[in-house]
Amino acid sequence: MARKLVIGNWKLNGSSAANAVLLTELAAEWRGAPGMQLVVCPPAPYLAQACDVLSGSAVTWGGQDVSDRPAGAFTGEVSAAMLKDLGCSHAIVGHSERRLRFGESNALVAAKAAAALDGGLVPVVCIGESAAERNEGRALAVLQAQVEAVLAVVAAPRLPGVAFAYEPLWAIGTGQNADPQIAATVHAFVRGLLARADLAAAAEVPILYGGSVKAANAAEYAAQRDIDGVLVGGASLIAPDFLAIAAA
Ligand code: PEP
Repeated sequence: MARKLVIGNWKLNGSSAANAVLLTELAAEWRGAPGMQLVVCPPAPYLAQACDVLSGSAVTWGGQDVSDRPAGAFTGEVSAAMLKDLGCSHAIVGHSERRLRFGESNALVAAKAAAALDGGLVPVVCIGESAAERNEGRALAVLQAQVEAVLAVVAAPRLPGVAFAYEPLWAIGTGQNADPQIAATVHAFVRGLLARADLAAAAEVPILYGGSVKAANAAEYAAQRDIDGVLVGGASLIAPDFLAIAAA
């Protein structure tokens, strides 16, 4: 797996017409970079369109979520095998919007990460603390519980197939991006937790930053040790902005 990752999370945005423009521009403009992967995560109904437009390009695509179940009576769910069938490389799991609005627990997020891995996808496990948790001095404890839930179900040798994204809740969609150096200390903390499970494997795990990343601040994150890329929301919907972030 590429250690450097730039992932666009389109969230609940898009239409066939708008996606065609965005995907075509990304496919045409992104030439790839050594050791780095550019990934877009459209809403599930548009993954087939992403597969059509991006196949043969240097851009890959992934799901915004994945079921912890392989098949069966689970209305509304999308399995890892289905994402794989549509050519996905990655699946975001545990985005804070899903943790908060859909009540996803650390255990469920970890089960989704394991299901993605079993299905041949790279799970991108989102972790992050709220403003209140940070202000109360509980940020690291919250992050530790989120990471350890994954370590409880993903055996150490499989860790290099997993990516994490540190997304402090107070930075998502707010325009208040985390100070890159503060984010870097969190990333080092997370890598330390992974290293307790397997030192060598931990070094291979991409740990991304997410939260109000823009073309103007992306390079500051890229310059930090232990920040291996970014997960981008709003700015990933505008091709020149997303491409500028990837270039940074
Ligand atoms: C996100 O939702 O994962 C995100 C990082 O959003 P934004 O870049 O818009 O803050």
